[in-house]
Formats: sequence, structure tokens, C-alpha cells
Amino acid sequence: MIRVVTLDEYDPAVIKQLTKVLYTAFGVGAEHSGLATVPSGFADPLDALKLIDTLPKVLAFTDDKVLFLTSRKLATRKLVSGDAPTYGLAKYNAQRAIVTSAHIKNLDENVPVLARYAMQEIGAAFGLHHCLDPRCSMYPQWTPSYPGGDAIFCVFCREQSEQKIRQTKS
Ligand SMILES: [Zn+2]
Repeated sequence: MIRVVTLDEYDPAVIKQLTKVLYTAFGVGAEHSGLATVPSGFADPLDALKLIDTLPKVLAFTDDKVLFLTSRKLATRKLVSGDAPTYGLAKYNAQRAIVTSAHIKNLDENVPVLARYAMQEIGAAFGLHHCLDPRCSMYPQWTPSYPGGDAIFCVFCREQSEQKIRQTKS
């Protein structure tokens, strides 16, 4: 089960569409599990890694994935080549991931764009790696073509995710 926890107010129609795309992509249940509050002391832009470690416990089974969704900006990551924008973050092979919708204009009409980013973070939480197929949601996010792609996995990543999901089910 993928549990979406919102950190800000969202149109229920947006969340409904997002969970539907995630359900289709991963073949596991996806639901809005409620609202959580960003702890005080977090300034904008948010430190994504610190935040997913700090957010309170969400009622979930061990094989569930928890996706936090925020409309606030996430802090850039420092790379040798400069600052890289952060649209989401996941702990690899772990339970928690976060994704922001701050960079998506007219979210009501662009839920699949958010879903594409969300798929990559949940995919990473399930243990998927980046993919070389530009159509696939696991393709690197820093590429110019990424936001224009569909919320889909390539055949390889879909099979990988099905396999990982089977493995995590106890
Ligand atoms: Zn792929």
C-alpha cells in the first residue's frame, strides 16, 4: 500500500487523481492517509532529508510506502557541479519519500506531472534505480525532457517494481 500524507492543503480531486495514477503504476493500493504538519523550526526551502526523518510516525505496515506531499519548496542539494533543484527525495529501499508540487503550475490540470515525480520517489523507496528510457518515470529528473513525460514506467521498471513489491510482502 502506498500511503499519501499531505503536509499542506490540496484539492481532494488532485489527491484522488494522484492516488489513482500511483495505483495503476505500481499495481498496489494507494490512498490518502491524512494530513501531517511540518514541525516548527523548518524554514523554506525545506530540508527534505531532515524532514522525512523528523515527521511523526504514520500508521503503516512495514511493507507500506509513505509519500509526503508538500506545496512548499525543497532546498537545493549541493553538488560539485553546483546546486541541483530538489523535487523530491526518497530513502532508498526504505519506507519514506517526499515530493513537492511547488514547481508545478496549474496543478489541477497537471496532476500527471506530479505523479511522474512521485513515481520516481516511490520507485526509489522500493529499490528501483534510474532508467535510461526517457519516457520512463525513473529517467533522471534533471533532464529537460523529464517534466513533459507521462506518468508511466517502461516495461523493465514495471517488472522491477512488481518484483520488489513481491519481495517486500512478508
Ligand atoms: Zn524504466
